[in-house]
Formats: sequence, structure tokens, C-alpha cells
Amino acid sequence: MQTRTLFIAAAASLAMLWSCSETTKTKNPMQEKVDQFALVDLKSDLSHLTVNQKQMLVKLIEVGEIMEDLFWKDAFNKDRETFLASLPDEATRQFARIMYGPWNRMEANKPFVDGYGKKPAGANYYPADITLEEFEAWEEPNKLDWYSLVRRDEQGKLIMIPYHVAYKEEITRAATLLREASEMAEDEGFKKYLSLRAEALETDDYLASDMAWMDMKTNKIDFVVGPIESYEDQLVGARAAHSAQILIKDLEWSAKLDRFGELLPKLQASLPCDDKYKQEKAHAVANMYVYDVVLYRGDCNAGSKNIAINLPNDPRVHAAKGSRKLQLKNAMQAKFDKILLPISDLVIDPSQRKHVKFDAFFENVMFHEVGHGLGIKETISGKGTVRDAMKDTYSSIEENKADLMGLFMVAKLTEMGEYPDKDIMDNYVTFMAGLFRSIRFGATSAHGVANLMRFNYFAELGAFTRDEKAGTYKVNFDKMTLALNNLINETLTIQGEGDYETAKKWIEERGIMTEELKNDLARINSAGIPVDIQFNQGAKVLGL
Ligand SMILES: [Zn+2]
Repeated sequence: MQTRTLFIAAAASLAMLWSCSETTKTKNPMQEKVDQFALVDLKSDLSHLTVNQKQMLVKLIEVGEIMEDLFWKDAFNKDRETFLASLPDEATRQFARIMYGPWNRMEANKPFVDGYGKKPAGANYYPADITLEEFEAWEEPNKLDWYSLVRRDEQGKLIMIPYHVAYKEEITRAATLLREASEMAEDEGFKKYLSLRAEALETDDYLASDMAWMDMKTNKIDFVVGPIESYEDQLVGARAAHSAQILIKDLEWSAKLDRFGELLPKLQASLPCDDKYKQEKAHAVANMYVYDVVLYRGDCNAGSKNIAINLPNDPRVHAAKGSRKLQLKNAMQAKFDKILLPISDLVIDPSQRKHVKFDAFFENVMFHEVGHGLGIKETISGKGTVRDAMKDTYSSIEENKADLMGLFMVAKLTEMGEYPDKDIMDNYVTFMAGLFRSIRFGATSAHGVANLMRFNYFAELGAFTRDEKAGTYKVNFDKMTLALNNLINETLTIQGEGDYETAKKWIEERGIMTEELKNDLARINSAGIPVDIQFNQGAKVLGL
């Protein structure tokens, strides 16, 4: 599954407020929409790759372009070129390319071009006139198949056409290119995966290639390609959308993750809570990797851009080999630069803005993930697992824990000498700025509630102060450290005891948005900060 929402939500409300800003009054309204997506060059350091590997990348980019063509067909039942040529101006064409059709993905698929009604729930996977009732009544045992189109035969009866039949020409070209790339691959695991992926495209059986993907360990390049996620199919959520992402492994972070993995027992032992809540062995984060993305094509490029990948989706692969989480570092950096920094300029005290740094942001994200593995999974009060005991409060409390653990670990690792040049204040202030970004996605998700609880708790303990006139926030280092330790202690105690009642009370009392915070968020939303990013990408940008 993709993590897109981390940065984006509230896009719709932002878009509505967009036109309030003075400078945009004379602009083509369609250009304003395009400009909500900050343009970024999609690049990464390729200097460690051989000439041969760079040539292989060019092949993979060509496959990406085929996935791009196929995703247009997944999403929209008109010919792309005819449609684009029919649009009134270049800005509209550009916005249509971002949205892959005439509907605005950031505003619940509202059409932005005249003459197009509502987007069909099933995109172009199903006949445009199909209803859910008809689909449910359809007696076809494989109707939830991930890799086929549903069409009508001459009598109007529903039939399924496998992707490899419907898109034969494109699939044949893509498979040929994948085999050529496989020949060129230097990593054995990647070589095998590419060749199995070619076969998968030709047969619509992805199992062996997904297994081979999970087996890869030493590859410096990765290629997530084919029909993958099913969000485009809003009718029944079954059909998979064509997508391609070329990834370059971040070797420095891969080594760091291994190192921190070794330090987990020490970190667990240092948690600021009673010994009885930290007797369990810490769980290492398995299968987490850091990559730069150098190509987004098809589904992953439509509307908001994903910044993490959690795959594969096939439960048979999960059972056999688990799944893998890829953090997309350069994409996160782009959103940090274009979205989080401008937010910081509005809500962080000018004297502390220098502490808002991407490295700190990325560490906070990474250690959040590692933080899920610390603490306790089984209550000590005989109430079973923490997950079962905490019921509906589980996710909010656990997400809150992971965020706190993230900061705690950076501080601990610095104490342990792992970060010689680290200023923890960077992580604290960046964390604070990140809170505003996260709370923007709404207070109802587990992450949103977790952020509000923490925000209100920090406010109570004076971890930050707010300048009434400027509406900016300033972190108090000592009180922040204290608040962090207290809150970790309380959270681990609640989890360890399986204390559902206290958790429920916490969420009710602290998971709320104050008027003041609402006003600060409104200020962010009306400031004309981009809602997402778009890429200038391809072989040329990469210097290939
Ligand atoms: Zn989490």
C-alpha cells in the first residue's frame, strides 16, 4: 500500500481558500491549480552506478512510459492524445496530465473540464454504465480478479478480459524491455526479479515475481512495476492500476538502519518507565529500506505523490515472506522543501526556524517506524496483547508512542555517541513544525488524534510557548525533554497495564482541537502553500 496522505490531506480545503491570495487574482485559474503542485526535478546521485547500469536504467524508464500509457487507459475511457488536444489551453492540459483525465483527484474527482460528468466509480476498468447492483448480481466466480478489465459482449453480458490480452501490444513491448534490462542487471536477485516480472506481465500471474522481489537483498536499484494498487477502482477496489517507480538505494541509510537495529536492546533498556514495562525483547524493523525515486509513472504519479511503499499486496506472499517498506527519501525532501518549510515560516518562532531541517525530519520519520518495535506488546495485567486490551484506542495510543519514541531514540543515540554533531533541538523544532502539518490532515485519523493529544500535553507542560501577536511557537528545550519522558512513561504504563479506561479518557480530554489551534491552521491553509508536488523527470533530468 502507498503512503500518500502523510503530507497531503486538507488539499480540498486548501484549494478552496487558494483564490484568496492577492497575487493570484490575475492568473488563469487553471494555472493556479497547476501551481498548487510545486515543480521539482526528480534526481538522485547515480555516480556509483556503472555505465552498464545506467544503460539499464534507460530501459527501465522506457518500461515506465508504457505503464504511463496503460494507467491513462485504466483511468479514463477516451484516447489521451485526442482528449489533451481538445483542451482550451496549455495550463488545462498540464493539469489534466497531473490528474490523468478531466477529474480533480484532490477534490473528490470533481470535473475541471466542461462536458465531463462524474468520474465513473470503476474508472475505465468496467463498462461506464455498470452499477454496483449489477456487479454484485454477476455470477462470475473470478469477478474480483486484480488483473483484468470488465467489458460487455455483443449481447451486453459482462465478460472479463485479462490485461495481457487487452493490452497485448504494450505488454509485449514492456516484457521485451524487461528481459533486456534483466540481461544487463548486475545484481543476481534483481536479474531474476526482472525476468520473472516480464513473465508476470505476459501471464497476469505475479506470484513468482513478488516472491523474487522479497528475496532481493543486495540490489542497489529497484523497480516497482506493473499493475499494483487498487485505489483507482472505486467501484469494488479490486482492479490493479499500472504504475512504475525506479528506485536507487540509499546505502548510507541502509547501513544506519543495520547499526540502529543492533542498538535496540540498549534503547529498550533505557526507556523512561518502570522495569516491568520493558522486559520484552525489542522488535527490529524487518525489511525497511531507504531509496531515492528517479521515476514516477502511472498510478503513483497521479495527483498526490507517494512517499513510502509497502508491498507486495498479495496475502500469499505476506504469509511466506512478509512485506517490505520502502521510504522514499528524495520525494520526502521535495515535500519538506516545498510544503513543510513554508509552514514553519508561518508558525515557528523566527529565532528557531534554523532548526527546521530535512535530516531531522527524516530521522523523526525513520525512528517513528523503529519506535513501533520498542516498549511492550503483551500486557502484564493478564489482559492479553496490548492491541486487544486497548481496543479502539489502540492505534491512536500506539501512533503517539511511536512518534515519542522517535524523538527519544534520537536523543538517546546522541547520548550514546552515535551522532557526534547532533543538535537535538533540530529534531524538537522540526517535530513541532511537523505537528502542524500532520494535524492538517484532520483530527479524526489515528495519527491526527495522536498529534492532538501530544500537542495539548506539551502545551500543558510548557514544552512550547505561543507568541500571541505573531501566532508563532517556540520550543522550550528542557520542558520538552521532560514532557517527552513523562509522556512515554504514561503511555507505556497504559499499554503495559492494558488500561483502556485511562486511554479512552486521554483521547476524550486531549485529542481535541482548541480554537487557537484552529485559527493557526486556517492561517496555514490560506497562505497559498502548495498542496503537493509534480516532477520534471526522465532520462534527460538524470543526465542519462
Ligand atoms: Zn506508525
